[in-house]
Amino acid sequence: MGLLEGKNALIFGLANDKSIAWGIAQAFKREGANIGISYAGEILERRVKPLAEQLDCKWLEECDVTKDDQIAATAESAAKHFGKIDILVHSIAFAGRDELNKPFHQTTREGFRNALDISVFSFVALTNAFQSHFNPGASVMCLTYHGSVKVVPYYNVMGVAKAALESSTRYLAYDLGPQKVRVNAISAGPIRTLAAAGVGGFRDMYKHFAEVAPLRENVTIEDVGNSAVFLASDMSSHVTGEVLYVDSGFNIIGVQMTEEDRNNK
Ligand code: NAP
Repeated sequence: MGLLEGKNALIFGLANDKSIAWGIAQAFKREGANIGISYAGEILERRVKPLAEQLDCKWLEECDVTKDDQIAATAESAAKHFGKIDILVHSIAFAGRDELNKPFHQTTREGFRNALDISVFSFVALTNAFQSHFNPGASVMCLTYHGSVKVVPYYNVMGVAKAALESSTRYLAYDLGPQKVRVNAISAGPIRTLAAAGVGGFRDMYKHFAEVAPLRENVTIEDVGNSAVFLASDMSSHVTGEVLYVDSGFNIIGVQMTEEDRNNK
């Protein structure tokens, strides 16, 4: 029997088969969850529909998280289809390409507002919209990155957004705790996805990561999916408000050394 047998899981942020949301959706399905998927826009539907079919997903809804009415309609539709919800995954982020290529101090008001609205406020708004539909023991989670606590060149306003997202995770965990609903974040190492392609210098960072991380390996969407199963399941029943790093241990390193550095000691 799977760890998520019979649980109703909603996943927001599936764009294609490279998405972290896809790794999570597949792992949840393997563990016996009933999957519901939400995606951003009409253009994505063509790509997302076949993926949803692979998981026998019967609830596939468009939701632009910048629109309050779409969030409300999505929550209503999910409640109608599933009844109660056990798992909600927020795997959504956006920052304008400009903001991820210029120095951080040149971030525009509009760019800042947009990044924080789509990448952070949407997590608060979704949690609020679904609050009355969660089963006791439900698990809510979002995806974050180490650029929230340390400077990662070019990550810029997304780093600030991820800091706000991690803080929101703690405040939401506090609010929903009495209802026995848990809220956590997964901090993933760099993975080649559509969103990552917009970050300046990503290719070099990705290569460097595998050279210096304790496990000397990049992280895959399957790795993130498996950790998401832990956070979604009753195995983590008293874990809430946490940021779980799935990053081959990269975040513990104080001084980064490549293989070449190590050989030249
Ligand atoms: P992805 O496949 O591009 O997923 C990002 C998703 O956000 C897309 O489905 C995108 O849809 C959606 N989105 C953007 N604006 C939206 C809106 N207004 N309404 C609804 N959805 C919207 O990339 P990913 O790397 O898997 O990203 C998933 C999460 O993981 C993000 O929070 C990201 O910051 C985080 N993360 C990624 C990495 C990495 O290295 N890849 C590392 C750590 C954390 P559209 O394509 O239509 O915009």
